[in-house]
Amino acid sequence: MSILERLAENHPQTPAAARLKAALLFHGVAYDPCLGRAGEWAFPSHMPFVLQPGEPLHEGQNKFYTPQLVRFPDDTQVRLRIKRDSRFRIVDGDAPRQFTLLEDGRPVTSLTFEPKLPWAEALTHDGTPMRSSGLVQHGDMLVLNVAPGCEYFVVPKVGLAGKTDNLSCTFCLYGVPDQRMDALGQRLYEAELPQRTLDRVAEACQHPETHSRHLYLVGGSMLDMAAEGERYLQIARSLAERGLTERYYVACGSGAIERRHMVAMKDAGVRGACFNLEVWDPAQFARICPGKHKTVGRDRWLAALEEAVDVFGPGNVMSAFVGGAELEGEGAFEDPEAALESNLAGAEYLIPRGIVPTWSIFWKVTGKARGEESFYTLDLFLRLNEATAAIRARTGRFTNPEFFCRRCAYMEMEPDFDFARAM
Ligand code: SF4
Repeated sequence: MSILERLAENHPQTPAAARLKAALLFHGVAYDPCLGRAGEWAFPSHMPFVLQPGEPLHEGQNKFYTPQLVRFPDDTQVRLRIKRDSRFRIVDGDAPRQFTLLEDGRPVTSLTFEPKLPWAEALTHDGTPMRSSGLVQHGDMLVLNVAPGCEYFVVPKVGLAGKTDNLSCTFCLYGVPDQRMDALGQRLYEAELPQRTLDRVAEACQHPETHSRHLYLVGGSMLDMAAEGERYLQIARSLAERGLTERYYVACGSGAIERRHMVAMKDAGVRGACFNLEVWDPAQFARICPGKHKTVGRDRWLAALEEAVDVFGPGNVMSAFVGGAELEGEGAFEDPEAALESNLAGAEYLIPRGIVPTWSIFWKVTGKARGEESFYTLDLFLRLNEATAAIRARTGRFTNPEFFCRRCAYMEMEPDFDFARAM
């Protein structure tokens, strides 16, 4: 039986598009040389793909970029993951930039990849490549990150000058303070960002061909929430001055900032907020997100989400969770069913309060089990999505496509479920 047939039999409540998306998120696709060729025009993967010895080189290279995002004919979006032993494979189709997805050699659907858009190749007025301005794109969402370094990686030890603790979230690699900060002028423990950084990124957002609807502001966390609120407000006001809060649905993806900053951002034209709790269970939250736990605390995080509903309105507040993180590492839940139950308790708490939780799959990117999700099965992930979709339907609190839609959700499935239900 094929993977897709089995999923159709076991998960009839999951829309077919979401089953396909979930199957590719878990199983990936086998490597095919067409992926190297597509990488020349498609929006590129975060990391280059590396061939194994003996595999035919791509343009003489064994290391190259492949596409980041698959786009199906019905507009469903999914992140491309290459797993050599996958039963799925993408091969050239019968028209330029068209491809066919196969499972066990049998055609499943046609597809294409999200292309590089003109803004990513353009320069700002001072000659900086716009793709280095702190902006990336996921389908129809621009993600603005001009302060990527997260202070949870370097929390000063009290009374020990120059020494720091690492209180970063256990699953996180992208917030490591590194050379990206230098290029953007971010300084640790300082809220204010250089005006030239804000000018450049705003110029990139102003490019006429971004083909985006949503603009999501993110960044590394600060230890001082008041300072973090000031930083996001500075960014929001800079965007508002250029009319960008009119052009895009701008959402604040900060930590649990203070209410006064939420209000000031709303006044500047920001329309939504997404404060990511990451893990629902209190003990697992403390274990997996020690920085958030120690510097903010779960209670304050939840209070901030409810304040955000007051300020931005229901339908404009979200919180992201990393599905499966609570099953990984020392002190983890031992029973996947307990993890599912905990996540559903979170959904039952948040959704009626106007906060939409969204789960992405925890892709293990470090250690021996890299690339595996042995602790969080595809079936469990679909059951979680089916149950949370039912809670949204029962309460009438759906994902808001102005904020988060099928064209930008490439590792989450809530918009796919809600879209299928509305059809
Ligand atoms: S808050 Fe956690 S997930 Fe976010 S950048 Fe910092 S360590 Fe990473």
